[in-house]
Amino acid sequence: MSPPVVPAPFNPARLVSEFEESARLHGFRVERFGEIDGCPLIALTKRTPGPRPRVYISAGIHGDEPAPPLALLRLLQRGFFDRRAIWFLCPLLNPTGFPRGTRENVDGLDLNRDYRQPKSGEIAAHLRWLETQPSFDLGLCLHEDWEASGTYLYELNPQQRPSLAELIITAIAKRFPIDQAESIDGRPAHGGIIRPDGDPATRELWPEAIYLRAHHTTLNYTIETPSCHPLEDRIAVQCLAVETAVSGLVKSLDRR
Ligand SMILES: [Zn+2]
Repeated sequence: MSPPVVPAPFNPARLVSEFEESARLHGFRVERFGEIDGCPLIALTKRTPGPRPRVYISAGIHGDEPAPPLALLRLLQRGFFDRRAIWFLCPLLNPTGFPRGTRENVDGLDLNRDYRQPKSGEIAAHLRWLETQPSFDLGLCLHEDWEASGTYLYELNPQQRPSLAELIITAIAKRFPIDQAESIDGRPAHGGIIRPDGDPATRELWPEAIYLRAHHTTLNYTIETPSCHPLEDRIAVQCLAVETAVSGLVKSLDRR
């Protein structure tokens, strides 16, 4: 079986300008770190002086996964990105995938396997930008899965920091289904949580999360919402996952 091909319910260039406009309104710095097919690749950063956790969030790396960028835009417009943290957002990494509704970019490359020796302009540019950024206290990679029956997540937590996985899943489970399969994508899962073991750095093709684990953050979550569910629900789940992860992180750092 292959995923259904559904063009995104938005125009990428228009969505990017909505991000830029809203980001400026909410005190973000807007950077264009590349351009693909006339659509800018953007990063939005917002720093508040004083000790704050650094939170990185990316979305839109797979063109058949529209809920994550739409959720980020909603959070931005709602004023969610406040003074609690220093924010680093890359909201739409694969602009050419969305009009076609394909996981891959226009050249057929899966951008989320391109972080070791990048072949795509998108990820080469993203890596150049990431290399100029500090380390992050939390990384969130927002995704969707067309084969899932509910939401699930991957946790990369090599230093055994306080986990946010149960917190995120519990918050979502109050209102939305969790994928309860014991094996997801060939990996053992427990109540919607996958903790890949072994050193993922030995993998030949690097997803973004593995790159982040190797170079940028000791705590990373990949959130996966089920594409077969209504878009509005998936957007709500993505928002809830981000909100819960951030408030959990802030609380766990306050306790130290
Ligand atoms: Zn994905």
